[in-house]
Amino acid sequence: MQQPDVFSDAIARLERLGREADISPEVIAMLRQPKAVLSASLPVRMDDGSNRYFQAYRCRYNDELGPTKGGIRFHPGVTLEEVQALALWMTIKCAAVGLPYGGAKGGVVVDPKALSHLELERLSRAYVRAMANFIGPSTDIPAPDVYTNARIMGWMMDEYETIHRTKAPGVITGKPIRLGGSLGRDEATGRGAFLCIQQLVRERSLEPKRTTVAIQGFGNAGYNVARLLQEAGFRIIAVSDSQGAVYSADGFDVHSLYEVKQQTRKLQGVYCEGSVCHLVDHKRISNAELLELEVDILIPAALEGVIGKHNVDRIRAPFIVEVANGPIMGDVDELLFERGTVVLPDVLANAGGVTVSYFEWVQNRSGYAWTLAEVRSRLAEVMERGFQAVWQLAHTEKRSLRSAAYTVALRRIAEAIDAHGTREYFQQ
Ligand code: NAD
Repeated sequence: MQQPDVFSDAIARLERLGREADISPEVIAMLRQPKAVLSASLPVRMDDGSNRYFQAYRCRYNDELGPTKGGIRFHPGVTLEEVQALALWMTIKCAAVGLPYGGAKGGVVVDPKALSHLELERLSRAYVRAMANFIGPSTDIPAPDVYTNARIMGWMMDEYETIHRTKAPGVITGKPIRLGGSLGRDEATGRGAFLCIQQLVRERSLEPKRTTVAIQGFGNAGYNVARLLQEAGFRIIAVSDSQGAVYSADGFDVHSLYEVKQQTRKLQGVYCEGSVCHLVDHKRISNAELLELEVDILIPAALEGVIGKHNVDRIRAPFIVEVANGPIMGDVDELLFERGTVVLPDVLANAGGVTVSYFEWVQNRSGYAWTLAEVRSRLAEVMERGFQAVWQLAHTEKRSLRSAAYTVALRRIAEAIDAHGTREYFQQ
């Protein structure tokens, strides 16, 4: 599949939805480009003694609402455009659910599965050495994303603290619990999406037992949403990872799938290298076929740009829940809406992750740890409020949920800008 120009697509969508929301062109002009980008080449000593150089990025997109926040991705397909698009979506997401954050994102062009544990640690620390003056607990706070995890966050925090000669747990979220992480952060993205789906099901009077689900991507986000949906009675008929997909009309037991993936991985404790395709007794299908299944809820939970002009005519699910960031290209938004497909947009559906990251940061700054029950109940509060605001606006104004979510977010950003004084105020 050809790599889409994801940033131009994200900007075109922003401009279109900004017009629909009647947002001042000055606000959209400000959001057309990132506030700051740092690009660096990371030298890493490999186990064989050689030196290799890895291209790395960090983008602080917009900080009108607070310090910037966003994950770090380790993936061979990382580009500056992708990092910028992800940082723009973080800006919209934090504003949409009312967090006091702007948006950011980072990435390294690397296949982390090809590195040893020691090489991975050196790379993670090298990233922080390059970004040490660009990130910070009150300026820009990273977190995990695709192929980064709690252990990597722990190494990164440690490197930051060594450089700045201070304890600074609030510099990064998604850390191991003993290093200042929050209970409930590991499942937060999946749980947030699950809470949205529960409300969607209620609004549309769907019955979980009669509702089938297909999930692309069985990592942190995909696995957790699958687990919670199954516990609530939904039938998970297909799941996939980077190696391919498995399908069973009767539905999978998510726990056994997870066990198999855990057992077959190579770099134990760091990456799931095993593929769900190692399972027998189920039909093997491709990732493309999974997206086109006749299923009630389709959940893309891997990478961006998987639904676009190339396949939108073959997508049959009436509900799509964007757990991944940007899985649907902007140029098919309107087509899906006109067709009646209900799309729960990424900026709402996967906001559970950054919400509990925010809780982690609050706990780090106050030095007081919350219980799991507290984290879950506060997450439910944020997600329910966020969902209802978007759902009601979409219904009153007969617009898509994405358009409504951007409206809520852009209005908050515009209000923050106006609070400094409007053009009318300064002309008096
Ligand atoms: P992860 O690294 O835990 O898992 C990624 C999963 O995607 C793996 O199962 C991998 O095998 C699979 N995958 C990779 N390439 C694939 C492909 N081409 N086709 C199908 N599957 C593929 O990552 P994650 O944290 O679960 O992130 C997944 C998505 O969710 C990303 O878009 C990420 O930006 C988004 N997201 C994550 C969080 C979070 O807190 N982790 C928060 C918000 C959004």
